[in-house]
Amino acid sequence: MTVPSKNFDTLARITYSFERASWTLLDLVFPPRCQSCRQPGERLCARCRAEIEYLKEPVCSHCGYPHPAPTTDDSCDQCRRISFGNVRIRSMAFHSESLRNAIHSLKYRRNPALGETLADLMSQRWLADFPADAMLIPVPLGMERKQARGFNQAEILARGLGARWRRPLVVDGLSRGRETRSQVGLNAQDRKSNVAGAFVASAKVKGHSVILIDDVCTTGATLSACAEALLQSGATHVWAYTLARARHDADILTP
Ligand SMILES: [Zn+2]
Ligand SMILES: [Zn+2]
Repeated sequence: MTVPSKNFDTLARITYSFERASWTLLDLVFPPRCQSCRQPGERLCARCRAEIEYLKEPVCSHCGYPHPAPTTDDSCDQCRRISFGNVRIRSMAFHSESLRNAIHSLKYRRNPALGETLADLMSQRWLADFPADAMLIPVPLGMERKQARGFNQAEILARGLGARWRRPLVVDGLSRGRETRSQVGLNAQDRKSNVAGAFVASAKVKGHSVILIDDVCTTGATLSACAEALLQSGATHVWAYTLARARHDADILTP
């Protein structure tokens, strides 16, 4: 069994520090613009940060969706309507306004420095809920999408979190066994069938707890399919942490 390094690998850490220093220098020469409102100065300005709707306790202990009072799996409306499977989910904030704009920019314009800013915000929340020995694994993109885009935004976030939390990052912990169509526009049931059995987990996960990292959780179908693959390969527990959480409105939940 391959045991991953206890912490973020040394070479990766040096490369990462070098990249961060380069971005800081570049920012002095070319001041960045806010990726939500386009004001010059910061990648996400103070006003747009203040608009982020952070998820706060109490949340469901299983699916992580906010509730007016502390809840168990049995009493959570979201868990009753959607099966989240064997993954416990936490998300930083609702997928709205400035955060939605920033995620769009992270996905479609190559902007790893914005990923840094967002990973920094993510790192300040929910850590106490996750197992102390868990490895971080980004949700993989399909090969076609990764080739077209050139990078995986989940990997950028996972790298930033790994460095801040000092947790091992296993980029190849999961891969797509088959291509899937985009989940956009699909309802909860179709999302589940679209990604069922689509992921393959590496033997590296055997005997370890895992925190899956992704940009957005909509109905949890992708996270749940990833968790199944990880558990089949011997992972002990699977958690997920996403930057944003879609509000569960009727459009997504209608079968
Ligand atoms: Zn702004
Ligand atoms: Zn729930």
